[in-house]
Amino acid sequence: MEQAGSIDLVQQLRAHLESLQAAGVLFVPFDASAPLQVATNLGAQTNGAIAEVVETPPEDPIEVRQRELAVLREEVAKCDKCSELFSTRTQTVFGSGPLDAEVGFVGEAPGSAEDAQGEPFVGKGGQLLGRIIAACGFTRDHVYLFNIIKCRPPANRAPSMTECGNCRDFFRRQFELVKPKFLVALGSTASRLLTGQNQPLAKLRGKVYEYRGVPLVCTHHPDEIEKDASGARKREAWEDMKLLLRTMGREVPAPKS
Ligand code: SF4
Repeated sequence: MEQAGSIDLVQQLRAHLESLQAAGVLFVPFDASAPLQVATNLGAQTNGAIAEVVETPPEDPIEVRQRELAVLREEVAKCDKCSELFSTRTQTVFGSGPLDAEVGFVGEAPGSAEDAQGEPFVGKGGQLLGRIIAACGFTRDHVYLFNIIKCRPPANRAPSMTECGNCRDFFRRQFELVKPKFLVALGSTASRLLTGQNQPLAKLRGKVYEYRGVPLVCTHHPDEIEKDASGARKREAWEDMKLLLRTMGREVPAPKS
């Protein structure tokens, strides 16, 4: 109520000053002995002779989201909801990339290199993901990289459903703050959780889903592509990336010879 009253006063003061200006009055005498509480609270400035109302500029929504993301990162760093992961991790691995990224790539969990460095997708699989991203015509500056859970499971085992559930709220809040325009689920765990369908990855690939209003494509995890000596998963992953690019309305780059 008090703030609404203050805003009324500012509006009245502005209207009064504008009417004086319209009448040709360019300078308003200022009484330094008069109470200044309202003007000071609202950011008004005075040089002792002219009173001018200065509005506080509205906050940049991107900066607000960046600040909220930093708060969330701190919250994640202190999290001990999964006792085994909490006691074995080197550190949490939150995510990296710009807000409003063109594409968000979502893995299931950090591996050993990520656990050591605190950054997602920095191991061998991450390097392959970097090449896939480049082949699509993106750089890492266009994409946001994150995982369903933020702590490395021991011996790189798959995360349990309990661990994924414990981390679900962190993931959702991160997704809402980053707001990627398109999503790629990497591997079966991320694909099942983001599509909400308990199907093998082979059945989830090749279609476009939606996660919270954002188009979503499923493909192999880069670690699994690395392990496949036949090259079949690599070819399938490229088919999935072509589906992503078509969904985005982007041209599919010609394969390099
Ligand atoms: S995986 Fe997520 S919920 Fe579990 S301890 Fe790590 S940050 Fe917390």
